[in-house]
Amino acid sequence: MRTKISAVSKSLGQTVTLAGFVHSLRNQGKIAFLRLRDDSGSLQVVILSSNVEAFSIVKSLSVESVVEITGLVKAAPQVPEKLELEAQAITVLSVADSSLPIPVSAEKGAVDVDVAKRFDWRWLDLRKSDSHRIFRVWTALEQGMRAYFAEHDFVQIYAPSLMSAASESGAEVFEVKYFETKAYLAQSPQFYKQMAIASGFEKVFLVGPVFRAELSFTTRHMTEFTGWDFEIAYINSHHEIMDTLEASLKAGFTELKKQELIQESISFPFARLTFTDAKIQLQKSGITSDKPHDFSPDEEREICRLVKEDSGSDFVFIYDYPPEGRAFYHMRHTDNPALTRGFDLLYKGVEITTGAQREHRYDVLVKQAKERGLTAESLSDYLNFFKYGCPPHGGVGIGPGRIVAQILGLSSVKESAFLPRDVKRLRP
Ligand code: ATP
Repeated sequence: MRTKISAVSKSLGQTVTLAGFVHSLRNQGKIAFLRLRDDSGSLQVVILSSNVEAFSIVKSLSVESVVEITGLVKAAPQVPEKLELEAQAITVLSVADSSLPIPVSAEKGAVDVDVAKRFDWRWLDLRKSDSHRIFRVWTALEQGMRAYFAEHDFVQIYAPSLMSAASESGAEVFEVKYFETKAYLAQSPQFYKQMAIASGFEKVFLVGPVFRAELSFTTRHMTEFTGWDFEIAYINSHHEIMDTLEASLKAGFTELKKQELIQESISFPFARLTFTDAKIQLQKSGITSDKPHDFSPDEEREICRLVKEDSGSDFVFIYDYPPEGRAFYHMRHTDNPALTRGFDLLYKGVEITTGAQREHRYDVLVKQAKERGLTAESLSDYLNFFKYGCPPHGGVGIGPGRIVAQILGLSSVKESAFLPRDVKRLRP
């Protein structure tokens, strides 16, 4: 039976069988050292020349080959693990070509490999332990949030990515050939999660792919990414949506801490600022912007810096955006139609979520769509969801890739994707 490297310490003085990648090799004539790596850690393996068969295998081995090694677990004060394996038998499971296109075992930062080249060879890039951590963080965060959704009676639904019409606006949508006609890839499951509310579900969450045909070359944008969404019925205001988002993220971060994937504690509650107050604070800071109805990346960073300084919170909700910067279906304030019940959540300088209370009244929705130059005909499938009764509701679209990138301080959201897709990248 195979033992994982992280469990070897329980087998001191015993014979175990390990399997993994050959991380490094060093042959010193009478003795060879091999560092074996699996997804739980790495361990030094010693091969003595007196073990003729194993020694001859090691002599012709290449790094990153996959091997199974049976041997004796011995104390070794000189190595970081204080343990090593003295090999008895080695089986080569898969031979790696001896010239690796990118280094795998080099210490972080020791070899500066171009990021495009790393993504070309993503499966080798991901073999580094730092890379695995990204996906462990993602998994734990999602685990905590899903547990919250399950405990609070959410139902999971899956929305299709193929649509007959571009959902919210035409410009950012990928068109695909669909038999004799055209289809479009969904830029968000927005319309369908609202349909779920019209179907009588009161709390839904979704995890799925999102496609954006944006010519963006930023560290925050990909052309395909994973989105997390939820939608809740019978709310009185967008603050209830913010409360739910905050509570679900709290569950996610608590799970991260429990699994010792982060050290720092997140400070709760998250700060909340109106759009107007945020703009006033930014003006005081001397940050100018060409975005009167939204925030530039510089403004997002500065707001987060100010909030962190003021309240210690890494998270800040900005709410009550003007309608010009929001989707047509965001509900307006009853007493002030110049403000929407829309909000964003920023985390460590970057927007990670957009949310709102939605307009559920058919007539008002049609009016708001028309004001944007959208025709009722082009939106008929969507508008019909609200024609036969629909509870008041609201929800969010979350970008988990951005959250994970900010948690780990990654240089780009692309680093948190298993296989990033951007304007220039469709492979491997
Ligand atoms: P931005 O203003 O940063 O372009 P957005 O307003 O277009 O984002 P939404 O449409 O509200 O974003 O999407 C919801 C969430 O999905 C965002 O808050 C973000 O976390 C994430 N997200 C949006 N676009 C991208 C993208 N191109 N790549 C990765 N994540 C994204």
